[in-house]
Amino acid sequence: MTSVAGSRGIPTTMRASVLRGVADVELEERPVPAPGSGEVLVRVTAVGVCGSDVHYYEHGRLGQFVVESPLVLGHEAGGRVEAVGAGVRSLVPGQRVSLEPGVPCRTCLQCLAGRYNLCPDIAFFATPPYDGAFTEFVVLPEAFVFAVPDSVSDDAAALLEPLSVGVWACRRGGVAPGCRVLVTGAGPIGLICAQAARAYGASQVWISDVNPRRLALAAQLGAVPLDVTHRSVREWGVEADVLLECSGNSRATTEAIRTLARAGRVVLIGMGADEVPMPLPYIQGRELWLTGAFRYANTWPTAIDLVASGRVDLDALVTGHFGLADTEKALTAAKRDAGTVKVIVQPQR
Ligand SMILES: [Zn+2]
Ligand SMILES: [Zn+2]
Repeated sequence: MTSVAGSRGIPTTMRASVLRGVADVELEERPVPAPGSGEVLVRVTAVGVCGSDVHYYEHGRLGQFVVESPLVLGHEAGGRVEAVGAGVRSLVPGQRVSLEPGVPCRTCLQCLAGRYNLCPDIAFFATPPYDGAFTEFVVLPEAFVFAVPDSVSDDAAALLEPLSVGVWACRRGGVAPGCRVLVTGAGPIGLICAQAARAYGASQVWISDVNPRRLALAAQLGAVPLDVTHRSVREWGVEADVLLECSGNSRATTEAIRTLARAGRVVLIGMGADEVPMPLPYIQGRELWLTGAFRYANTWPTAIDLVASGRVDLDALVTGHFGLADTEKALTAAKRDAGTVKVIVQPQR
């Protein structure tokens, strides 16, 4: 690789935290990848642990994706540009960046239509067979590496990925000024969706959960918390124009749909229940719109702006940091401590 800019001083090997089987993560020494033409080598500084990482760790699979060979987890990542391949113009070594972790084929019908999140051939970090970011260095095409201003912390740069999920959900649901939005589930994605909905102009944002600590955090972030332990969202008197379903809970989903106003919109984001009973007369009589949301497309510039301008606070979600050797502890943090919201792995530690 003679044309790689900034390649001096880059080590030849790196540590990677590898999932070798169910509940089995170990450090491995691997070669540092070289950026090809149009690619960027990034030194990873922060990686958010996602529910999907935990699910792969605990079960070795997620939906139709099965871990059949050793896999590096982690897809919420930020870092610093270490070197750039030939032809890279927008980035230089040393720049702080956030990574969009899915690289679509860019030639299929869905890609050409701009819906590249639906590309059947997308190579997505930490989705078998593609390795993720629990490692010291990764390589990505230039178009999927975004410079961030210094007002965006390393943790926040990593968490622009889940924020992108929230931005995409708001776009899918048509959240706009004056909207009343119900978010079900105050996990990291729910807390992010609630903040994104406010940033998109929603006049009212409720968030439901049974975990008092998460509801307290939701209130701190500007949403109206609804404890649904003894009282349903309907019993709380909610009437919403948009439902952002982030709980993945079948009963919560059915119950929440019944709070929608006429011509309301339902966006299904949470994963969990495969089958959910639908109140059809309610959906038909009110002409509700119902859609799924799968990852995101073209969201990074918006996500960066929402954080840089202070309208979304991602740092408030972070409840712990772990070094690369402690990746397993990071993956089990939520199990050990109910106060866990979002933990970060720092691969340079
Ligand atoms: Zn995630
Ligand atoms: Zn494609």
